[in-house]
Amino acid sequence: MSGCSGNCESCSSNCGSKENGSLIEPTGAFNNIKHIIAVVSGKGGVGKSMVTSMLAVQMSRKGYKVGILDADITGPSIPKAFGIKEKALQNELGILPAETKTGIKVISVNMMLETPDSPVIWRGPVIAGLVKQFWQEVVWGDLDYLFIDCPPGTGDVPLTVFQIIPLDGTVVVTSPQDLVSMIVKKALNMANMMNIPVLGLIENMSYVKCPDCGKEFSVFGGGSDAISKESGIPILAKMPIDTELAKQVDMGVIELFEGDYLEEAAARIENSEK
Ligand code: ADP
Repeated sequence: MSGCSGNCESCSSNCGSKENGSLIEPTGAFNNIKHIIAVVSGKGGVGKSMVTSMLAVQMSRKGYKVGILDADITGPSIPKAFGIKEKALQNELGILPAETKTGIKVISVNMMLETPDSPVIWRGPVIAGLVKQFWQEVVWGDLDYLFIDCPPGTGDVPLTVFQIIPLDGTVVVTSPQDLVSMIVKKALNMANMMNIPVLGLIENMSYVKCPDCGKEFSVFGGGSDAISKESGIPILAKMPIDTELAKQVDMGVIELFEGDYLEEAAARIENSEK
């Protein structure tokens, strides 16, 4: 679906979306977004926002124009990782995203709340409506990659993202616990049922490395290898628990993190998208 603006009316392609009664919505006429990747997880806390941020940073380091749409409305973590404190502004074209220190464009509900710790106590349809607004009314301009940080699970909001945004693919983040492995299959099955390609799995919190002897310990055992084998979906990366990384996220300077855990994953996403 690369290059799809979501506007079937003015499109000459016969991709099937028209006949299938597609619910895809067009983004703003001022936007030109080449590739759209949703980052999803079966459950919360596995590091989905961390992976979204790191993939965006990797793509930006390659020289691409990158944006992040934070669709995790009730648990927005993207602004914190990048140290974004300003509020979203608006002009006659629409809502203006914030720009990180290295030029990644970001929109998140936290840029609209009075204080970052204000809870979002909204019902599903209202939250889904805001995601739709982020897609349609944010002035992204020209982007090579838009990453969407989806809320965990298979509820209302991930469904909205899958239905209205012309995704090129999803990346599924998991941690190697049995429980998470079981739940991640739901996310994989959802993408399959919606005909959205799963580009790969990223296993986060895969191991810890002893700072003294360098030995690697698997804290939770395994899990993703079995899922990958069973589903045929490749593992794009295995990322350790890294205290330095956690510290830099907490300080809002993820762009300064020098670890290359997702370098290969970003290269594989780049190649799968050409
Ligand atoms: P999710 O989006 O899946 O809910 P987050 O990306 O917000 O999860 O991560 C949850 C917490 O775990 C955050 O504080 C984050 O900084 C930390 N974290 C995630 N992955 C790692 C990692 N590989 N090493 C250290 N801390 C991590």
